[in-house]
Amino acid sequence: MTRTLRNSSVSISELTPKKRFLKALKLRKVDRPPVLSANQTATVEQMESLGIYYKDAYSDPEKMAALASAAWEQIGLEGVGVPFCQTVEAEVFGLEVNWGRKKTSIPVVSFKGCVAPEGIDVPENFLERGRIPVVLDAIESLSEKYGDEIPVLGHVIGPFSLAAHLANMEKILKMSIKRPGLVEEFTELGMDAIAEYASAMLERGADAIVIENMFASVDILGVKGYITFAKPFDKELIRRVKGPTILHICGDCTNIIGEMVETGATCLSIDSKTDARYAVKVSRNKAAIMGNVDTVYTLTFGKPQDVEAETLRSIEAGIDIIAPGCSLSPLTPNRNVRAMVEAVKKRKISF
Ligand SMILES: [Zn+2]
Repeated sequence: MTRTLRNSSVSISELTPKKRFLKALKLRKVDRPPVLSANQTATVEQMESLGIYYKDAYSDPEKMAALASAAWEQIGLEGVGVPFCQTVEAEVFGLEVNWGRKKTSIPVVSFKGCVAPEGIDVPENFLERGRIPVVLDAIESLSEKYGDEIPVLGHVIGPFSLAAHLANMEKILKMSIKRPGLVEEFTELGMDAIAEYASAMLERGADAIVIENMFASVDILGVKGYITFAKPFDKELIRRVKGPTILHICGDCTNIIGEMVETGATCLSIDSKTDARYAVKVSRNKAAIMGNVDTVYTLTFGKPQDVEAETLRSIEAGIDIIAPGCSLSPLTPNRNVRAMVEAVKKRKISF
């Protein structure tokens, strides 16, 4: 079953990738789904061709913008986004960032964790700290470069995921059983900072905010855990962000799609494990669905024909915006992502 375009007068030439994306986000008619990524797009191939690696990109806004641009310039993904990991906010809160052994490793937060919320200093002047000025300058640079042509996405961490960084994932799971009130206190700590950061991204030219809530996954928290510990904060953050929001939760979201819709997000970014047809059905007329091509087996280790077949399955399921189901692995070959882009463009006639 394919979605039929009721108004066939929508002209392809009228739609820049940005216009198509913004229309699809608002569930308006488009000639075909946009194809881009909600999450990080930098790969080893792109980094080597540009001579810009993660650490370079995080120390220079122009380099960050150039590495993000490779998504469009080298692969044809119809959108660009920064930053490339979920450590920027946690670092400002005083946590250590592990840059990995290779310059192509995605930075991660060392999970040391704080014992109590009182032990954490909420930083003042959040927007002036750490790598945040670099990210905001890169967004402005990308927005000026691409104007009305290509959408620019700003990535922020989800409140529960920041809490999981601050308190340590293992400890926060134990806390959720023994002292649930403490989990909420940890999660509340980052709310103002994340909301302020997202608003600044929009002011500097971002077209949409991706809330990357990877630790709010049902695989980790369970359905009840998502509803209790993550959803209220996702909802509150989305209420505060005055622009389109894309809520990304890793893993199988099939059983929380209705809950994710209730957060008020403009769009839900789903992973390959999520039942796409069910997600489209539950979110109908309420939120756009983005995803859900598998990033590991298919995009990283599959062949271009595997990517094409899976992309077509996502289109057939009725997904509004075709995208990788999660962050691209830096090991993803450019040719596989290109195969996803081409598969979507080939299907134009069917819409
Ligand atoms: Zn993910």
